[in-house]
Amino acid sequence: MSSFSISTLGCRANQADSERLSQMLRAAGMQELPAGEAVDCALVNTCTITAEADRKSLKMIRRRLREARVVIVTGCGVTERGGIAGLPEGAFAVSPQEHKRILDILAGENISVGESSEPDDRQHRTRALIRVQDGCDHFCSYCIVPYVRGAVRSFDCDELVHQVQRLERDGYKEIVLTGIHLAKWGLELEPRRDLAYLVGRFLESTSAVRFRLSSVEPISFPRSLIDLMRECPERLCPHLHLPLQHASDRILKRMRRGYTLDEYDELAQMFLSVPGACMTTDILLGFPGETEEDMDILSAYLERTPYYHLHVFPYSRRPGTAANTYKDQVPEQLKKERVERIIALGERSKERVLSAFRGTKRPVLVERLVPGTDLVTGTADNYISVSFPGDASMLGQIICAVIS
Ligand code: SF4
Repeated sequence: MSSFSISTLGCRANQADSERLSQMLRAAGMQELPAGEAVDCALVNTCTITAEADRKSLKMIRRRLREARVVIVTGCGVTERGGIAGLPEGAFAVSPQEHKRILDILAGENISVGESSEPDDRQHRTRALIRVQDGCDHFCSYCIVPYVRGAVRSFDCDELVHQVQRLERDGYKEIVLTGIHLAKWGLELEPRRDLAYLVGRFLESTSAVRFRLSSVEPISFPRSLIDLMRECPERLCPHLHLPLQHASDRILKRMRRGYTLDEYDELAQMFLSVPGACMTTDILLGFPGETEEDMDILSAYLERTPYYHLHVFPYSRRPGTAANTYKDQVPEQLKKERVERIIALGERSKERVLSAFRGTKRPVLVERLVPGTDLVTGTADNYISVSFPGDASMLGQIICAVIS
């Protein structure tokens, strides 16, 4: 039996793609091994959101070339025309739109692919990711993603409903909806739909599995999604990763985010009024022209808004984007200091959120044993990580536990 491994960089949309690739190759009779082991084919699912992500992707490709007969590179680092800057010799580039070509490449390299007769033996099915759309047409001034992922394409609703029904039948307890710009699902369809419609269809066509949204942009966010969270607390997790990026309206405008701080905050407060709600966000620092005054505005907003986690990035120039041409770039050292400052503020915010939830009970999806202890650990519906006494029989179950 031929073997493969997958290395995934970047966001949950890439993780969802990697899961689909894994399913495709296992269905073709291949065996999946952990990344790093000697395999016939190593897949590297790249991310190109920052220069640092490009560097990590290339490093991973070089490492896998030492371990695999064939290396296939895909993900956001590969454009629709199949290009990737600096691709080492011996690796094949396949754009995310052409994944089916991977089987042809493997057959051409004499790696046997066929049909699997083996049952899928993955144990402790916990969380599955499904991607419901591709592409983005928002063109934030710093972001390369619309150039590499192309226009918004919503995946077919009935097809997605079948997928979630299958995942529930397969025993998954939680399904995470991902996309490049998740809030855009359905908006280009005829008749026009929205993400709340899709989630509603998922809820009515399954019976017990719970759903979680991964990152949802504030722009195009359907407010009725928050009503659904309120109406179906056991089925739709009260967690939102709502990217803020900055709190200064001047910077938000230059970033072309399409909202003001007041508009963002109105949505955030609406969500935070859902019982048990917990919010996380992305912050982009050192954007061209960012001043200490902008930092003060950001710090003040973060101090008064209960975020469980801040994902803090330094701005990174991406050739081809509008912000790359801005003259007032922030020095690297200053970006680094600002990142450290906001990370520290995020830690304090997390502590405040945790202390508000301590002692309360939440349904926790148990994911792992804590080595060397009699504890298990998992993720509550509202995304808070929880550890509590337990054993292997709890893995993959949803158990009501006290947040400590
Ligand atoms: S919404 Fe903005 S940040 Fe998100 S993928 Fe689109 S362009 Fe990039």
